[in-house]
Amino acid sequence: MPELPEMETYRMLLTKLVVGKPITDVRVGRPKSINVLPDRFHGELVGRTIMEIQRRAKYLIFRLDSGSSLLLHLMLGGWMHFGTEADKPDRNTQVEIDFGAGTLYFIGLRLGFLHLLTEPQLSERLGELGPEPLALDFSEATFRERLQSKKGALKPLLTNQQWIAGIGNCYSDEICFEAGLLPTHNSGEIGPDVASALFRSMRTVLQRAIHKGGYMENPLYCGDGLTGGYNDAYLVYDRGGEACYRCGHSIVSDHLSSRKVFYCSNCQR
Ligand SMILES: [Zn+2]
Repeated sequence: MPELPEMETYRMLLTKLVVGKPITDVRVGRPKSINVLPDRFHGELVGRTIMEIQRRAKYLIFRLDSGSSLLLHLMLGGWMHFGTEADKPDRNTQVEIDFGAGTLYFIGLRLGFLHLLTEPQLSERLGELGPEPLALDFSEATFRERLQSKKGALKPLLTNQQWIAGIGNCYSDEICFEAGLLPTHNSGEIGPDVASALFRSMRTVLQRAIHKGGYMENPLYCGDGLTGGYNDAYLVYDRGGEACYRCGHSIVSDHLSSRKVFYCSNCQR
């Protein structure tokens, strides 16, 4: 499932491709992927312009000049392509939005969704999310306080969207490795110095992943050289049995709270 760096990469690239361009047509192939009747969805979007694309946690918010917004969550299996009928991937699409000559295709939107929401509806939907890990006003001191108020294994805490937003299965493992902590480490026992190191590791890993374009497998558009660059840069995630880059020991692949987890038993304590 795409996490913060993947959605941030989409946000940056889509901003250049679609912001400020009028929506010329909309096709809904799977009404379950949206939250209103397709006719209304069409009527409220065609002729409108996306003024800005924001990201919150693993969501993208397309802000329309009507005051409404489209809220996108790709969940498991969702991805996007921007281009033309000629270069469109040979896959079913659930929603297609035309911006003149270019079309934004939503693919694999089965568990995921694209919902048309008013401002109050949007606020309600996003209301329970925890702080953004990269927000400038999210301080190390706040992170330490939040960490010390919780007891339990570190990985489930990092992936808890109410505790901190945007981190999932991959980057929680990467952050634990960067910080030298086991994913099973009890968060309530982490002292101030280690908490500071964990905070810095979290920011380092997420910023590095954004810089490399995240791990989505498919490029957003033909010639996109950014998306997916992190696929070759995993520290431990999806590297079970391979050598640790730091010490050479074999990376452990295991399960924790019914999710896959990867770590180095030699480097992480
Ligand atoms: Zn190691």
